[in-house]
Amino acid sequence: MIYLDAAATTPVRREAIEAMWPYLTGEFGNPSSSHGLGESAAAALLAARQSVAAVLNCRPGEVVFTSGGTEADNLAVKGIALARRAEDPLRTRVLVSAVEHPAVAESAAYLARVHGFTIDTLPVDDQGLVQSDRFAQLLGPDVALASVMYANNEVGTVQPIAELAAMARGRGVPFHTDAVQAAGWLTLDTAALGVDALSLSGHKVGAPKGVGVLYLRNRIAAEPLIHGGGQERGARSGTENVAFAVALATALALAEAERPERAERVKALRDQFIAAVLQQVPGAVLTGPRSRRLPSIASFCFPGSSGESVLLELERRSIACSSGSACAAGADEPSAVLTAMGVPSDVAQTAVRFSFDGGISAADLDRAGEAVADVVAGLGRLRSS
Ligand code: PLP
Repeated sequence: MIYLDAAATTPVRREAIEAMWPYLTGEFGNPSSSHGLGESAAAALLAARQSVAAVLNCRPGEVVFTSGGTEADNLAVKGIALARRAEDPLRTRVLVSAVEHPAVAESAAYLARVHGFTIDTLPVDDQGLVQSDRFAQLLGPDVALASVMYANNEVGTVQPIAELAAMARGRGVPFHTDAVQAAGWLTLDTAALGVDALSLSGHKVGAPKGVGVLYLRNRIAAEPLIHGGGQERGARSGTENVAFAVALATALALAEAERPERAERVKALRDQFIAAVLQQVPGAVLTGPRSRRLPSIASFCFPGSSGESVLLELERRSIACSSGSACAAGADEPSAVLTAMGVPSDVAQTAVRFSFDGGISAADLDRAGEAVADVVAGLGRLRSS
């Protein structure tokens, strides 16, 4: 099997399993307990927090462990908007881009539905890029939060986060970015990016599913979503998942150390793959930008075919990829991301996403490119017969 679906998930790295193993076995204590087992769990959790903070260039106390990227996004969007409005009742608007993951988009929709916020959706151009002048126009003294993702999970578009965050800061608007897909490919230096909140997910970087991080700048208040014993400095109650926090910290540190070399190598392979597909598949359209995209994502539409049939035929040839995002797979609706980019819905239905991790090889991608050409041509012949 050639696995070209790393944006959906990645296998757990051996180093992460080995690092977390003690906390699933002998060192099983609760970090809140005052005996030795508890203390050793608390020490492991602190070390994990410090390690994540080193990658994010922030203080350990600004790292909140969550159950994943979805919870981190929910806590950022709902928690910050609610807290900001509580401080200043005039802040009743939330700004989100049109290409957010549902974890952000649906959190914003909830704020409108249940808490009476007004949601402003920031449009994108045909490459999926937010326009910064439009962003500046929408920022105002009535905005409680702006959230723009760092890199898109369907087409890989990388947004100008540092520029947007600086604009938001200038207007006193808290700025959150969903960096789930950026991790391991782009810098996560929160000081350089200038963001107030940033979400990560463990399973995109070689840690298990079900663990994530929200970076929450010290001065930024966030209303908790989960109440209880006050763990994670009150931001997220519940006995901490020490083993998974250790696994995430281990995998993230490795991903960060390997990042410069891996990003360069995979970007070159991605560009060769894109060129091969565009050359070998008549009518294939690259979705998203040529250069301002994650090294790890190549996404196409194959007008006239069906994305689902292409996926099935590729799977028969032992190639695993996905139509748009994993969350939207199997959904009848055309991708909201492609629709926001102005792709007509019949074309958007033919979207296929190939996404890579650091282990991808040129030989695998050559095989995949040939298989795509073969599959799309075969489906074309079927249609015309
Ligand atoms: N945000 C983005 C951009 C994603 O791609 C994903 C997962 O695909 C998430 C958030 C959700 O993360 P998790 O699966 O850890 O809940």
